Amino acid sequence: MKPIILANWKMNLGVNESADLALLLKNELEGVEEKDLVLCPSFSSLAKVGEIIQGSNMLLGSQDVFWEEKGSYTGEESPKFLAELGCRYAIVGHSERREKIGEDNEMIHRKIKACIAGELIPVVCVGETFEERQEGLTNQVVLNEIFKALAGVDLIPSEQLVIAYEPVWVIGSGQAVKPEEAGEVFRLIRQAVLDLWPLTIVENSVRIIYGGSVDGENAKEFSKLEYFNGFLVGGNSLKAEEFKRIINSI
Ligand code: PEP
Repeated sequence: MKPIILANWKMNLGVNESADLALLLKNELEGVEEKDLVLCPSFSSLAKVGEIIQGSNMLLGSQDVFWEEKGSYTGEESPKFLAELGCRYAIVGHSERREKIGEDNEMIHRKIKACIAGELIPVVCVGETFEERQEGLTNQVVLNEIFKALAGVDLIPSEQLVIAYEPVWVIGSGQAVKPEEAGEVFRLIRQAVLDLWPLTIVENSVRIIYGGSVDGENAKEFSKLEYFNGFLVGGNSLKAEEFKRIINSI
């Protein structure tokens, strides 16, 4: 599978700023092949960014999604509507949503199922907080999040899933974890997904990626890890040059 690099712009850019950055990246990254490049602007900018990158090597992703296809859910976004808008991916269970919005594993599980049913590829975020790490609970937390989110999710060969290991305490900190620490968690995640699906599905449909203060400097070391298949990038995806360096280093 191609590596995937997702830009999570969070709620940092308005519609015009998103359009400007999308245009810049589209031009700067023209000709990048063999990598899935995904821009995830805020909901209000999806249509505009989608128009700009249409026909380019860049794909569109949403930062969240709801678990129902249609109905009285004020303020929510349907996977079907997002797909209609051109989204291929949806980030699910980002730590900022878990922490600040109160999203729990059950909701995340439902969102993943809705994505797959609605033909969006879920990018499922898992990772420990600083306190959990201090208490030696990293593996336990990651496994719990994975099984709660993914047990009972059927994947057929045409469907895909991305799991982003994002240690919560390094997100936006400017200091990533040591690549070898991420490598250990990658192995754990790989083993967990093998408990859920057959090897052929895992090898052809499941990508494991890293997120948390990735920059043009540290990206190369992560990319050498076994089972590494890409990045989820926050802050540095807002800087065209740095984002390009990350992409070019893998
Ligand atoms: C993120 O929010 O998913 C993220 C990885 O952010 P940053 O790259 O800024 O740490």
